[in-house]
Amino acid sequence: MTNVFDRMIGQQAIIAELADAARAARALADRLDESAAGAVSMFAPADDDAPGEAAGGDLEQEIEARTRASMTHAWLFTGPPGSGRSIAATCFAAALQCRHPEIVGCGECRACTTVLARTHADVRHIVPAGLSLSVDSMREIVQLASRRPGTGRWQIVVVEDADRLTEQAANALLKVVEEPPSRTVFLLCAPSVDPEDIAVTLRSRCRHVALTSPSVADIERVLVERDGIAPDAARWAASVCGGHVGRAKRLATDADARAQRESALGIARAATRDSTAYKAAEELVRSADAAAKAISAALDEAETEELKTALGAGGTGKGTARAPRGTAGVLKDLEKRQKSRATRVGRDVLDRALVDLAALFRDALVVSMGAQVTAMHPDKADDLVGPMASYAGPEQLLQCVEAVLDCREALDVNVKPKFAVDAMVARIGQAMRSGERV
Ligand SMILES: [Zn+2]
Repeated sequence: MTNVFDRMIGQQAIIAELADAARAARALADRLDESAAGAVSMFAPADDDAPGEAAGGDLEQEIEARTRASMTHAWLFTGPPGSGRSIAATCFAAALQCRHPEIVGCGECRACTTVLARTHADVRHIVPAGLSLSVDSMREIVQLASRRPGTGRWQIVVVEDADRLTEQAANALLKVVEEPPSRTVFLLCAPSVDPEDIAVTLRSRCRHVALTSPSVADIERVLVERDGIAPDAARWAASVCGGHVGRAKRLATDADARAQRESALGIARAATRDSTAYKAAEELVRSADAAAKAISAALDEAETEELKTALGAGGTGKGTARAPRGTAGVLKDLEKRQKSRATRVGRDVLDRALVDLAALFRDALVVSMGAQVTAMHPDKADDLVGPMASYAGPEQLLQCVEAVLDCREALDVNVKPKFAVDAMVARIGQAMRSGERV
């Protein structure tokens, strides 16, 4: 077993910061434990309340000042899709709860394993069931967050996709983040600090951790070392995955994922002829659907297995024990979560395909303008990007990019995928034909 932070790919600087913070938090939690009255808080000055007999005067204040400087009740993890925002938040939660005497986030103790399996009683993962997070669920969260932790050091709430908070939900959260209970930590995840993604007021209360897209080399290495993928396949997948580790792995190992990428990129050529355009649109929607189902199934299986292990059922190997009584409810909850996730995965996969397609037009635009920028689809330089750049001019290619982006927006406001994609393909066809260089 390895340290929990090993799960964060290509984020060395951030890992160091989080480990330091977890260490400081541990010292603070110990101090809180010692302070019988719980009078020591992360923000309130020590003399706010009677510190009690046990207080050690100067030393206590010094410790508190130091921990306060490096530990915060509310964190915001941002980063592009696939950079591992929620993984980072989960790893940090594990490090905060870890019971290893020296290491923070040992990855082996019960606290670490249960946080990673999402079964730790004092770590709650809030994943919006639908496309937004309602004020009701936020009220429930705020209530839970105010409780004292049971076995853990902290009561931790991980809000995945904080960008899906409704305005009211964000306000409800802001209230508790402004005056957090001394044992509560909020870990929010969002794509960026853009006000569209996270309310300015909420953002201002959080310590910000910005994940970056891991480099092609980092991704290549992890595919080879962690996943045992052949170097050639790893190099190719890393170069075309757009900085998304999970996607790189799928592209390297799953023929369906590769076929799905081909069908997305194939739109560029197919759209130029009526006889092929609509079939290609149909194929894109169908293959996205199939890929989403495969991803959900794989996620579900790994998660269920991890949960069963954490519950003491002990994996699927020899001597496998049965799950203890009373755990059926937990498994039911997981199933429910998995169902709502499947809907989102479906949308995300199609969106990803569109990002790929937009990147292909952008590659062609770059070539057509003679600019020197790293290609997003280096493997398509000869058979697609080159011909596209000579077939259509920059203006037409730009119109194609716009058509794809509009399609993404339409999907975002719940236009049926078939209609949105059909409309996009028609526009691409029009733009490409109008730009035909004779
Ligand atoms: Zn541990």
